[in-house]
Amino acid sequence: MTNKENRPITEILTKSFPQKDIHGSISMPVYITAAFEFETAEEMEDAFLGKNGKHTYTRISNPTVEAFEARVQAISGAKHVMAVASGMAAISGVFMTVASAGSNIVTSPHLFGNTFSLFLFTLKEFGVEARFCNLLDIKEVEKQIDENTCAVFTEIITNPHMEVVDLAALAEVSHKKGVPLIADSTIVPWTSFKAPDFGVDLEIISSTKYISGGATSIGGLILDYQTFDWTQSKRLKSLAEKVGKRAFQVKFRAEIGRNMGAAMAPQTAFLQNLGLETMDLRFRQAAKTCLELALFLKELPEIKQVNYNGLPSDPFYERGKKQFGDYPGAMLTFSLENRAACFAFINRLKIIRRATNLFDNKSLIIHPESTIYGTLSPEHKKIVEVPDHLLRLSVGLENIEDLKADILQAL
Ligand SMILES: *Cc1c(COP(=O)(O)O)cnc(C)c1O
Repeated sequence: MTNKENRPITEILTKSFPQKDIHGSISMPVYITAAFEFETAEEMEDAFLGKNGKHTYTRISNPTVEAFEARVQAISGAKHVMAVASGMAAISGVFMTVASAGSNIVTSPHLFGNTFSLFLFTLKEFGVEARFCNLLDIKEVEKQIDENTCAVFTEIITNPHMEVVDLAALAEVSHKKGVPLIADSTIVPWTSFKAPDFGVDLEIISSTKYISGGATSIGGLILDYQTFDWTQSKRLKSLAEKVGKRAFQVKFRAEIGRNMGAAMAPQTAFLQNLGLETMDLRFRQAAKTCLELALFLKELPEIKQVNYNGLPSDPFYERGKKQFGDYPGAMLTFSLENRAACFAFINRLKIIRRATNLFDNKSLIIHPESTIYGTLSPEHKKIVEVPDHLLRLSVGLENIEDLKADILQAL
């Protein structure tokens, strides 16, 4: 197969599971069990000390989850992959591992709603400060980083603001200051976005989105490229002196992951492993439809503005091409006259569904200001800057003509 577009699929389908199934099952067997038993006390001791690679308890590891992680690792090129219960479990788990009381995170206020809330409320109560700044301004980022900064954190395309940071520049300034760059890349899968090419040290993905294969389950992934020298980290320094670049992996696996207890369920690993097999096909189709819809929406007089990185008129178009190629996600935002016009439009839709979530096979619409950011105080709403005339559309796999007709009749 020399067709470049089909390479990622072949790559996924031909990566088999780490251990051959005893029955030769071509699908991944699902081990729905809490515990694993041993022949002898000695074997049990070795398992608990991590000496024989055997599973003990599903909160700590499970063969189905492990096979999913191994497949993600093989096709993403990460050095180590950790699958957890949700995208938020991945984000909170990462900061439970790298931050400590007195440290700060340099980030943007333009974040996924729960990530913003984690930084603004939850971590604050543990003495971790979020320094919200403009990540598009590298000089400002440099000024915000100090000796207590544990990480620079960004989303690769902010949602719903649709900004695209210059990741290589952000990585350069972070690394110069001895700080890792951590990125949430949920919006563009790794078949179109190669995080390590832009200096990202830890990549976080909500596998609920593209990977789950049509909103089948909640899950999260931490991809560790082991590019960062953790001896520069206050929290991980002493461990890094012993285990080198594996410090994050060891801290998460041996302590944080099992203590927080947000393990991925084996049933989820099965579904998401299956989702992986069609991810790139679904993604490319949805992204193509998304671009066509963005061009279509731009021409409609009722629509004030359309934001999509794949539009040549987008302020981040060139940077997006460099970072994501031709497929900068399958989500766009657009503005109508006001909040009332948005609500009326949503209420008239017949094909596009009224739901939160991204990258279902079905197209989904939401009014972010009244929902995702709805419970924020006026003061916090000002920080996140989500206007009330904005709608977010996640594009699915429906026929494009049907989607266009639905939009036209609802306007
Ligand atoms: C959905 C999402 C999350 C959270 O993922 P869950 O699986 O819902 O916990 C985090 N970041 C981004 C960009 C998301 O879209």
